Amino acid sequence: MSARLIDGFGREVTYVRLSVTDRCDFRCVYCMSEDMTFLPRQQVLSLEEIYRVGRVLVELGVKKIRLTGGEPLIRQNILWLVEKLAALDGLQELTMTTNGSRLKTLAQPLKDAGLNRINISLDSLNATRFHEITRTGHLSDVLAGISAAQQAGFQRIKLNSVIMRHRNDDEILTLVNFARQQQLDLAFIEEMPLGNISEHQRIDTYISNEEVRQRIAQEYALLPATDNTGGPARYYRMSDSQSRIGFISPHSHNFCDSCNRVRVTVEGRLLLCLGNEHSADLRAPLRAHSENDQPLIDTIINALPLKPERHYFDLDESPQIVRFMNMTGG
Ligand code: SAM
Ligand code: SF4
Repeated sequence: MSARLIDGFGREVTYVRLSVTDRCDFRCVYCMSEDMTFLPRQQVLSLEEIYRVGRVLVELGVKKIRLTGGEPLIRQNILWLVEKLAALDGLQELTMTTNGSRLKTLAQPLKDAGLNRINISLDSLNATRFHEITRTGHLSDVLAGISAAQQAGFQRIKLNSVIMRHRNDDEILTLVNFARQQQLDLAFIEEMPLGNISEHQRIDTYISNEEVRQRIAQEYALLPATDNTGGPARYYRMSDSQSRIGFISPHSHNFCDSCNRVRVTVEGRLLLCLGNEHSADLRAPLRAHSENDQPLIDTIINALPLKPERHYFDLDESPQIVRFMNMTGG
């Protein structure tokens, strides 16, 4: 049943980001407002429902699943889901994006459950600033989480950093040097206008990845890497390091042409594009037909033509997308 997920522009969907919760133990300034209202439990898919969505998508040709959120590691029994998804025939890679706060205890169990790779978000190496950006997080927990992931044997651990002008742009090289020392990959993400945030105007903090790249290039020659991770990042290598430096540039370098991704929110909404509202409800067929996958399969296949050709972000206007990143499944 493979290769059935082809959109109206001939792009094949092989990569799905499954959000396992909208909740989080952090309140990062670019992602959430300080006081968030989270979804009532009834609206949230159960782990069994999330597994069923994953299983059906893999049967339809999906090769890679990333678990995300919210913070995936605060979902109860997440290890059960990891173990079940990892065992799916046809799935080539199961990965997770986490803020790292709980990795100290969970890295080894995640590895044992079959998680293949892990991305850890880290925007600052200064403890005070880290706490300001995350509002509730502690740098020491995340650093301990990174060590635990290394000790558990995860390969090609990737750090994700959102760089904001006047907030952490003076740490670009510090983050690169940390990645080099620890032999980690590092991807810089441009801040996206998802949701209304209170603490800054995104237009004031926006810094293009081209500028970030130029600042790094003053210290290290960056050589374009030929390997592709299947994600939206463009990677570079440095001649004297194993670390790769990536740039995810939804504003300045549009990655839509080769987009092979869809997202499923924790409410069971299949989102066809990060920057658009085109979506289909999977929760209704999931719940109405608990023993029969066909209505779910039909809903997914019929939704594919809704995938738009590309997204547009405009920082001058109030956000076109009112959902926050924690609802989107980053
Ligand atoms: N809680 C986990 C974490 O922080 O890694 C996973 C979910 S989080 C929404 C996934 C990624 O999205 C993180 O790397 C985060 O930095 C990024 N992110 C959140 N809001 C963003 C925004 N408005 N623009 C760009 N990246 C954002
Ligand atoms: Fe939580 Fe991740 Fe959003 Fe930060 S970026 S508030 S860690 S979901």
